[in-house]
Amino acid sequence: MSDATQTAFDQLCDYSRETALLSSIEGLLGWDERTKMPPRAGQYRAEQITYLAGKIHRRWTDPRLGDLLGELVGSPLAEDRHSDAGATIRQLQREYDKRNKLPQTLVEELTRTSVLGQQAWEKARAADDFASFRPILEKTMGLKRQEAEALGYEECPYDALLDQYEPGELTSNVAKTLAGLREELVPLVAEIRDSGRQGPVDILHRHYPIETQRAFGSRAAAAIGFDFERGRLDVTSHPFCSGMGPHDCRITTRYDEKFFPGALFGILHESGHGIYDQGLRTEQFGLPPGEYVSLGIHESQSRMWENLVGRSRAFWEFFYGDAQQAFPEALADTSLDDFFFAINDVRPSLIRVEADEATYNLHILIRFELEQALINDELPVADLPGAWNEKYRDYLGIEPPSDADGVMQDVHWSAGLIGYFATYSLGNLYASQFFDQAGEDLGDLDEQFRAGDFARLRSWLQQNIHQNGQCYTAAELVERITGKPLSHGPLIAHLREKLGPLYGL
Ligand code: ZN
Repeated sequence: MSDATQTAFDQLCDYSRETALLSSIEGLLGWDERTKMPPRAGQYRAEQITYLAGKIHRRWTDPRLGDLLGELVGSPLAEDRHSDAGATIRQLQREYDKRNKLPQTLVEELTRTSVLGQQAWEKARAADDFASFRPILEKTMGLKRQEAEALGYEECPYDALLDQYEPGELTSNVAKTLAGLREELVPLVAEIRDSGRQGPVDILHRHYPIETQRAFGSRAAAAIGFDFERGRLDVTSHPFCSGMGPHDCRITTRYDEKFFPGALFGILHESGHGIYDQGLRTEQFGLPPGEYVSLGIHESQSRMWENLVGRSRAFWEFFYGDAQQAFPEALADTSLDDFFFAINDVRPSLIRVEADEATYNLHILIRFELEQALINDELPVADLPGAWNEKYRDYLGIEPPSDADGVMQDVHWSAGLIGYFATYSLGNLYASQFFDQAGEDLGDLDEQFRAGDFARLRSWLQQNIHQNGQCYTAAELVERITGKPLSHGPLIAHLREKLGPLYGL
């Protein structure tokens, strides 16, 4: 390899790291907006974030970046697409091409609208007033359609948006995977309903002091491996995880004194995201080998810790004594069996983020179908609340009592995140498939959890997933680790194995 090639590559890496510096500042402003910012600072914050997003976009479309990539794409450094250098060149080229298809004005307008949209959503949701949210949502959908057209797509406009979160994935392929899942999930949920059994969920609605929940949640997060020296936990209305530096990962949750699982499983979930961020190679921060693969893979990590670990019996065999001590008023006289059934109770419900492991995916399917209709111009925003309620009746047999707890329950659409929801179900599928493989490689995971040993699973994930960054695509990664393409089989098998005994199936 010539010195000139190496020099060009070094310059490319410096360039990418400097862009990451700006993106991380944007991330910090976004975190602050959703956790600490006073309400009236919203308009100016939108300007700050838009300014940075504009700068970042200009860097991504700068011909200097194009020239460096031009020197490198055909070079020996790019030959092995899975090597650090190869992945760096491939992924930066991909982003450069995409960004150059988007006009600067559209990027800035999308950013501003997304920040103002989230602020409008907060207010409209609090007032249960969809009409006041509708104009900005219409604007957002219009802009997203323009974005899809500018980016181009293989089969339908939704492909272009999905590709931003799950690179290389096609709508038709996801639809096929989710249809397979639905085919087995709907009868399972029906069997559970027909069993006539219900988990003793009243246990979860007793009095759980918030400060104690915070302390218990933090202990659980630390036990599974979230590093509080390199991250922190704060309160927000719509929990998220945001990585904004090689040693700075912020997770958030919300507390309800009368509902234990909300914060605890939320914290385990966001810790799963955080453990992924903290497991990335720090020396590659700002470069593709140091970045997450896709949102579906990110979600596989959060879902694994939340559900496959956090809702397992073995996990609670280790933690239940601690929980009983922390919450004596609620749990002192409650058996582990009852508690375990309560946290694994399956029944159709209104709110996605509080849904059980089984019906959760039906919430996703509803959103996946509605947002395709919105983007493909088959459903006007004005008809969205009606369409939403109809799907909830069809898929879950329940009727949302308000738009606040119906169509406005999630922040995503207000923020222009269209194409995002599907990655949640993909994450559930990836999680089960990875978890089965981890069990084969590491031996009895339950025995490890029962002893409070979560480190072996965590290092397995770090080695097999986190440390690879973007050197493999999501589809390549699942094949490489499990030897098979993604399938809904492992998730259904896991659900039947756990829920079967509880419901006598
Ligand atoms: Zn998540």
